[in-house]
Parts: sequence; structure tokens; C-alpha cells
Amino acid sequence: MTATAHTADRVFDGERILENQAVLIEDKAVTDIIALGDLPADIPLQQYPGCTLIPGLIDTHMHFMRWQGPLFLAYGVTSVRDTGNDLAWILQCRDEWPQKPWPRILCLGPLLDGTPPGHAFVAHAITDTDSAVAAVQQTAAAAVDGIKLYASIAAEWIAPMTETSHAAGLKVSMHCLPHGVLAAGRAGIDEFYHLDGILADIWPDHPPGWLAVWGDPDFDKTWDRQREVADAIAAMHLVSTPTLAYWDSQWRIRVAEPFPEERQYMPADLFQWSAAEPDAELGAVWQRAQQAASRFQGLLLERQVPTLAGSDTPCGGILPGQSLWRELSLLVTAGLSPIGALRSATSTAADFLERPELGRLQKGCAADFAVVRGDLGQQIPERPELVSVMRDGTSYAPNALLQAAETVAPSWRDEPWARQFAEHWAKRTAARP
Ligand SMILES: [Zn+2]
Repeated sequence: MTATAHTADRVFDGERILENQAVLIEDKAVTDIIALGDLPADIPLQQYPGCTLIPGLIDTHMHFMRWQGPLFLAYGVTSVRDTGNDLAWILQCRDEWPQKPWPRILCLGPLLDGTPPGHAFVAHAITDTDSAVAAVQQTAAAAVDGIKLYASIAAEWIAPMTETSHAAGLKVSMHCLPHGVLAAGRAGIDEFYHLDGILADIWPDHPPGWLAVWGDPDFDKTWDRQREVADAIAAMHLVSTPTLAYWDSQWRIRVAEPFPEERQYMPADLFQWSAAEPDAELGAVWQRAQQAASRFQGLLLERQVPTLAGSDTPCGGILPGQSLWRELSLLVTAGLSPIGALRSATSTAADFLERPELGRLQKGCAADFAVVRGDLGQQIPERPELVSVMRDGTSYAPNALLQAAETVAPSWRDEPWARQFAEHWAKRTAARP
């Protein structure tokens, strides 16, 4: 197999920006990064002027559907971690990715949840401590990449579940509603999603409700307590995956005709099921909540709490791949530098996932990279222009992937998350007067 070299005005190796360097690829691996002047004359060099070459991005929080695969690749996302799906179905997809124009797939199996679970088609329902431990053992035995606890897990199940998971060599990620992040952290979890549970820690006697509480004028008076909670989270070495793109989507889908470009690629029914009725007032409540959540995430960033980029697509009607770029720009708004944001979707993510072959461009890493127009060290574009993508040594043209993505096979309706969205939608419409 012959080697090829790839260079751009700037190369981000997962840690820092380099200039006048080329990435050497052989078969499915990066074999070196070397100075352009040292490049052997017999190695063909592909140059990308005006661009930044980055490791393939990792979306650490999403729920896989087959139609998403080419879109992720088109936006330079070469790895995804599915954070809740039907176990047998997602394991099948994880086996298939090398033969498809998809990102590589990691998965946490089903949402381990109480009874009845919030999302029955993608959950494993638990009734007591014994079944909680058995659920972790059963999921771990399927060789998943981590364990996910969902929102109605009883507080006393968390510690036995994390002990069982850690004994199997797997980290535990959780929606910490309603017990709070600190209680879940003391019970041993490794990562928390969506900033869920923070309200219970910051403002235990808050007014009833959930969403409006974030934007409540009195929420700002909890600032000292917010700092204490952020200190405690940092001291526990927890990892935050705030999915700010999901928070952001919740006001956007309440304006008229939301996401005109995204809708072109998403199955129309699925978009309708995940969107909402236009509602300016509720949209404004979501926007205030998002700003409060972003400020709290900023406190975590000040304390160096490791933060991973995750989009939560397809929830909120957001587009696979493009929504991860929105997440990166929202993380910059919350306080990360552009380089820090890129790390959250590359090296920081790979370190947490214990996948040293991902998220970096260095000897021995997977041949996964993306070439993006502009200087990403200066600015993260919310709508990036992708020039080329390589996944596992295979090159893809982003525009060809986007064109292919305009047609979605009707079988998407048989997939677990399609059935889940359809059921939620049917219940919502039946409840309407
Ligand atoms: Zn999710």
C-alpha cells in the first residue's frame, strides 16, 4: 500500500495548530506527521490551501438512525457514540459501519431506566436493585462501549449499578434528574448529560416546574451556590456533556418555519414529530434557560471540568453533523477557545472514551480526518464548508454525501427511534383538545 501525504495551511493534530506540516496516511492509519520540507519526493502530496485539516470529529451524544450516516461524514464527523438505542439493533449497526458511508459507531446499549421507562422502544426497564444490577451485567456482556442510566433510575440503584459497570471495565454516563449531579457523582458515575440534575443541586427548594426555573429571575441569586456546585463537580472529576445544541434547538423549533436547511435532509415526518407548535412565549422561556445553562457550563470550564461535544441529534430537529459544529460554537460562547472546542470533539473525547486511536493525528491513529475552509484556530464556523473527509482510510466528497442524503429509504420508519418518536407524537396529538 502506498503512502499519501495531506496538508493544509493549518493542521490541528488534536491538541494544537501546526503549520508547514503534512499528515502521512498508509492504508487505514496515520503513519506520521512531518515537516513539509522533510517529505520524501516519491510520496504524493494533496494540498488544501485556505483550509484547516483536523482529526475526524466525535459526536459523543447522539441516537443513531441509518439516514444520518452520510450526513455525519459530510460534516467531518467520523465517529459517533450512540447514547441510547435498542441493543440488538445498534450492535448490528456497529458491525455494519465499515461497509457503509457512515461514521464509526460506539454505543452504550439501551437507556437503563425505571418502570415504566420514558422511551420504551430504546430502554431496558428496571424494577429494583437486583434487576438494576442484572441490566448492567446483561448490557456489559454485549460488549457495549459504556453504560447509560436514564432519568427515572432510583437513587439507591446508582451505586450498585456503577460498581457493576466499573467491574466490567465500563464507564457510567447519566441523566441526573431528579437526584442531582452531586448525589450521582458520590454514587460513582463518570459523566453527566445535558446539565440535568444541576437544578436539584443549585436550588433544592426552587419553585415548581423545571424549565421556567432556569430562566427564573431568582435563579441568578443562586450564583454563589452555582460556584460551590461547580467546585464540587470539578473535585469529583466528573465529565460534562452539556449538549447545548439540544438546548438551543428548543427555542429554534418554536419559531415559524424552523431549520429550513436542516429539513431538506431529515425525513419530513420525523422532523414534525421532533419539532413543536410555533410558540414565541415558550421559545423565549427556552432561550432564557439555555443562557442560564450556558453560564453554568462556563463555571465548569473555568474549573477545567472536562467537557465533551455532543449534539443529541435527532432530538430537537437538528441535523446530524452540522449540529456538532453548532455545539462547538455554543461551547465557545460558554467560554472555550476555538482550540478548546475542537479538543472537546477530538482528543478530550477520545481520552474519555479510552480510544487512543481516535481524535488525534499522530502515528498509529486511525486515518480519520476532515478538511474545512478557514482558520479554525481563530473561529469555529457554525456552518462549516467541508472540502474533504477521510474515514478509516477512505476518502469522501462531502457534496456527494449530501446529495445522496437527500433521499431517505422508507425503511427508516422501522427503526427503534422512529417508532419511539411516532409513539410520542401519537400520544401528544391524542392528548390535544
Ligand atoms: Zn440523548
